[in-house]
Amino acid sequence: MDDYLRRTAITRLRVSDEQSDLLEATISDWQHGATLASQIGWRENEDSKYGLQQLAYDNVREETRLGSQHAILATHQAASALTGVNELKDKGRKVSCPEFTSPTIKYDANTLTLFDDNTVSLTTVESRVRCELVLPEDEDGYQYQFLSDDEWSVTESTLTARDGEYFLHLGFRKPNPFDEQASPAEDRTVLGVDLGIENLAVTSTAHFESGKKLVHDHDQFEQVRGDLQQTGTQSAHRTIVGRENREERYSRDKLHRVSNEIIDEAVEHECSHIVFEDLAYIRDRMPNAKKFHQWAHRKLISFVTYKAEALGIRIEFVDASYTSQRCSECGHTSRGNRPSQAHFECGKCGKILHADYNAAKNVGWRFVRRGLNDSRRTGDSQLALKSGTVKPNRGFIPYSVPS
Ligand SMILES: [Zn+2]
Repeated sequence: MDDYLRRTAITRLRVSDEQSDLLEATISDWQHGATLASQIGWRENEDSKYGLQQLAYDNVREETRLGSQHAILATHQAASALTGVNELKDKGRKVSCPEFTSPTIKYDANTLTLFDDNTVSLTTVESRVRCELVLPEDEDGYQYQFLSDDEWSVTESTLTARDGEYFLHLGFRKPNPFDEQASPAEDRTVLGVDLGIENLAVTSTAHFESGKKLVHDHDQFEQVRGDLQQTGTQSAHRTIVGRENREERYSRDKLHRVSNEIIDEAVEHECSHIVFEDLAYIRDRMPNAKKFHQWAHRKLISFVTYKAEALGIRIEFVDASYTSQRCSECGHTSRGNRPSQAHFECGKCGKILHADYNAAKNVGWRFVRRGLNDSRRTGDSQLALKSGTVKPNRGFIPYSVPS
């Protein structure tokens, strides 16, 4: 569901030869980057935006001159195309890996800026270019209602080259006043989730999902595979393939069960939002995580996402820097708060918590605070905890008041 009204205004751009060269080069790198991401997603069977971003981002950056935001957008574009292709495949159609050959590129509010003088600045593979919009002489041109009204802000847009000219499909959006869900007065209850290895997932409501068995079984499988590979016979190879399929099925089953537990936790505590750390942060935080762990986290998030969507629960991601060093009680942040992997002890207020539980609460808090900083929002945001919900700077609300 969309919280916004969306409109598109199409305009031509006035472009110098030099700008044209840069835009052309950018589109070319975009086609290359999106196709590369598409091939990676096709090979790894990954079509979720965040999952593919995690898998393909580094490659796109290495193989193209796209900046970080355009590299991310290219992976998202590829993920959307793969999702479309997979839907066709599910209907029994013959499909192939999507390629990006049309002379078009996506922009968003980070890569495109619209100015009051009806010019835009666009990110390219080198410096930004600033071009004039070629608008109708007639002041009643429909484009003006979006350009001159501050309520409409620029969002996903598309630049297309055609016969040596550039056309910008400027996407605009504004909050949908008729959408109850988008109402700024909406109360939100947030479930924070910390992902890890020892504990696959821990929620702000203190639900722990151990990752030990999954990792143990995976390690054992790897060992047996190593032994079989040394054997090197045809039948050993067949055994490996059979076991790989079984292991993947087993791991997926386990991750489905864990995702169901997280959803149950959210439903039980009447949460409107489930919040994870951004995958890039999880990866930075766990440099020793194996490919298997990364795969497991991606799968888990994608399972939770589609199940949550069906229930009207939203999934959000937060920047999770310092979530493991910050005290979820008093906010004191220090490396010394984390004397061991599992143990959190605040050097200031003395609070002792399981470290992953502390991190899960911080992930949730970060999103709750984001709501407080949004001036349009007047609704309450609160974090779901084991014994009740907590609003920032306000009282504790137990789930059930003992009579
Ligand atoms: Zn503290």
